[in-house]
Amino acid sequence: MSRRAGPFYKDFPCTLRRTKIIATMGPASESPDVIREMIMAGADIIRLNFSHGDPSWHVKAAGLVRMMAAELNREIGILVDIPGPKLRVLAGYQPKDVTAGDDIILAGEREGSPGAILVSPPDCIPDVCPGDIVLVGDGAVTLQVVKPGKVMQATVISGGTIREGMGVVIPGRRPDIPYAGPRLAEYIKRGAAVRPDYMAFSFVSSAKDISDARALLAKEAIGDIPLIAKIECRKAVDGLEEIIRVSDGVMVARGDLGVELLLEEVPYFQKLIITSCNKAGIPVITATEMLESMVIRGRPTRAEVTDVANAIVDGTDVTMLSAETSIGKHPGQAVSMMARIIVETEKHLPYPRILDERAGWQEKNVEGIISYRACNIAEELGSPAIVAFTRSGLTAERVSRCRPGAPVLALTPDPAVARKLLLWWGIQPVISLPITSADELFSAAIKITKDTGIGSSGEQLVIIAGNFSGREGRTNMVKVEEIT
Ligand code: PEP
Repeated sequence: MSRRAGPFYKDFPCTLRRTKIIATMGPASESPDVIREMIMAGADIIRLNFSHGDPSWHVKAAGLVRMMAAELNREIGILVDIPGPKLRVLAGYQPKDVTAGDDIILAGEREGSPGAILVSPPDCIPDVCPGDIVLVGDGAVTLQVVKPGKVMQATVISGGTIREGMGVVIPGRRPDIPYAGPRLAEYIKRGAAVRPDYMAFSFVSSAKDISDARALLAKEAIGDIPLIAKIECRKAVDGLEEIIRVSDGVMVARGDLGVELLLEEVPYFQKLIITSCNKAGIPVITATEMLESMVIRGRPTRAEVTDVANAIVDGTDVTMLSAETSIGKHPGQAVSMMARIIVETEKHLPYPRILDERAGWQEKNVEGIISYRACNIAEELGSPAIVAFTRSGLTAERVSRCRPGAPVLALTPDPAVARKLLLWWGIQPVISLPITSADELFSAAIKITKDTGIGSSGEQLVIIAGNFSGREGRTNMVKVEEIT
C-alpha cells in the first residue's frame, strides 16, 4: 500500500481491516518498543485498565501511547476502563496456596485477622448467606460461605493459589451501595486526567448507572466522550435494551460475565448482546480470553482462533486483548495474530446478504436512508471505497452500521473525531484539511483513494456527506464520481 501525502489529508497508513482491535496495556507492554510493536501490528485502541496500576502509571502510559502514535503518524484511541464495585484481594497480599477442605477467613482490609484473605474495597462486600459460593480469580479458587459477616468464614471447595489483585465474586450478590458514589467520582477524576477518547464502565446494572456516570463526567468537562457499558452481570443482561439506549457502545466482558453467569450461558448472551447492539446501531466489543493461550505461548489454539472468527461473523465491531497484551509474553504477536484472523475472516463475510438484513435496522429519516443507499450503490457498482466527509463522525457511523463490503474512508478535520471513529467497524479515519464545498470533497476523495492504492482509474467512487456550512450531523448528499 503506497503512503503518499496529499494536500487534503495527513499521510496515513491505510489498512483494509474492518474489525477493530483493542490492546490492554500493562507491565508486559509499558515500554515504547512494545507499544510501537502493538500499534504496527494493528492495535487501534489502547485500553488502560484502572483496576490495576496507580494514577501516575496511567498518566505516563497514556503519554507513551500518544508519543508512539505521533512517531508512527497514526491516530490511536485511548480507552479508560473504570472498575466497578468489585472486590479484589488486597494489593501486597502474599500468594497463598489453599486446598479443598481448608477453613478460610475472608475480611475487609481493616477487619482482617492474621492469616485472613484481605479484600478491598470494604464497602463492596455484599451481604451473603451460608452456602453461598465465592469465586476467587475468575473461579481459580472456589469457596463456600460457612458463617457470614464482616469477617466471613468459608471452606475451600476447589483449591489453587490466591494472589493479590484477584477478583472475588459472590454470584448473584451485589453490595448495597449506589453505583455513582464517591468511589466512581474519584475514578472518573483520575480517568479524566488521562484525557481519554472513550470510557468503559464495569459492572453497570442499569441505564441509570450510565446516565449517572455521564453526569459525573460532565463535571470533569469530558462529558462528550463515548461511554461504553460493560455487560458482566445478570442484572445488566436483564436490562440490556435500556442500557444500550443510553450508551455509546457496549462491551461483552466475558471474564466477569462467565463468573456471574453459568459459564455455559456466555455464548448465547454474547450473541444476543452483539445482535442487540448491531440493531441499535452502536459499536460492540467482544472481550477477554480471545487468544488466552498466547499469554504463555507464541501461537493460539484452534478454538481461540475460531472464537475470534465467530465473534466477527456474529457482528462484533471490535475484538479486545486483555492478559495477552497486559501481562503476556507475546503482546505484539498477539495483536498481529488477531489482525490476521480478522483479515482472513472478513474476506469471507457475505456482505450483500448482511446489507439486505440491515435494511430495516436504519434510522427512518433522510440521514439513515441516504447512508443505506450509499452502501447499496457501492455494492452494485463494485466501488473500491465509500468516502464519508464527517465533522461530528455521525455520517461515517451511519455508513458503518450498514456493514458495507467497501471500506469507509472517513475524512474529518478533527483528530478527536478520527479517534472516536476507531471504535467503529469498517471506518478508516483520515485527517483532512477543512473541506468547504462539494467540489473540494470530490477532488479530495478521488485523490485519497488513488494515493492509497485503494481505488484506480475507471472505478466508481461513492461519496457521502452533509451540508458543508450547516448543522453538524446531517447526512443528505450522496454522489458517484469516476476515478480519473
Ligand atoms: C471482563 O471481565 O471480561 C473485562 C473485560 O473486565 P476486566 O478486564 O476489568 O476484568
